[in-house]
Amino acid sequence: MNLLKYCLGVLTLLPLLSTPMVQAGNPNCEQIRATYQCPAEKKKITLSFDDGVADVTPKVLDVLKREKIKATFFILANKVDCGIYTKSCQQNGPNSAQCQSLNLCKQRLNTLARIKREGHTIGSHSYHHDRHSELPADRLQWTIQKSKLILSKYLTTEPPVFRLPYGDGWFNQKARPQAMAALKRNGFEHIGWEMTAYDWNVDYQNGDKILDNVMNQMCSGKGRQGVVLFHDGDFEKEHTGRPFTANNLARWIPMLRCAADFVPLTHFKKNLRVK
Ligand SMILES: [Zn+2]
Repeated sequence: MNLLKYCLGVLTLLPLLSTPMVQAGNPNCEQIRATYQCPAEKKKITLSFDDGVADVTPKVLDVLKREKIKATFFILANKVDCGIYTKSCQQNGPNSAQCQSLNLCKQRLNTLARIKREGHTIGSHSYHHDRHSELPADRLQWTIQKSKLILSKYLTTEPPVFRLPYGDGWFNQKARPQAMAALKRNGFEHIGWEMTAYDWNVDYQNGDKILDNVMNQMCSGKGRQGVVLFHDGDFEKEHTGRPFTANNLARWIPMLRCAADFVPLTHFKKNLRVK
């Protein structure tokens, strides 16, 4: 019986598979929905981007603007703490690596202002990309508080939102409650994710594997909706982000739209007030 069902499934897919999933910018939604076996009703999703600000963030913003999507950016505060470069730039002269770092930091700060101007939600991804559940209490408090100080002008909601690096301290909060407790103490609300693109993983930076990851989570079984985790930044690099994500987002969004409507974070988090 299962074999018969499988054969029938393959047969009905065959004519669909012979045509590409995207033609001249317009996705073949019927084919996409069949490929991923999406439920009839469209899901609601909200995009989030971690580890920025980065060199590719403006490219992501261009796509979101064109597609009229309001996303959420969880900013790694050390990437926009430009004051740390100012003194060393003055000491080492205008052509030094330190001054180059200062200029790149100022570019990132401009991009952060653009994210805010264009109506996206901005949250903190802490100051350093540490595993927060493993931090000593003083360091845990310092990194959360420092991020709030650096990002204060840019945080867009009340209460301000925060995403723990790696989700560490969130998904394992029962065993290690201290990170979530520290966020609460500092007035932050934590935002996790329902789906993840795994776009940081180089194994998936190939063809449409990253789209597959999201579509499969969104469509398989009853499917899921909610927050989707992407990355525009790379916490291990000073300025370079995730070019694969930035370069392919324009193609993936119309395909995601075949099975989902894009909503802002406040659709799921009704308690957040936009400042
Ligand atoms: Zn991260």
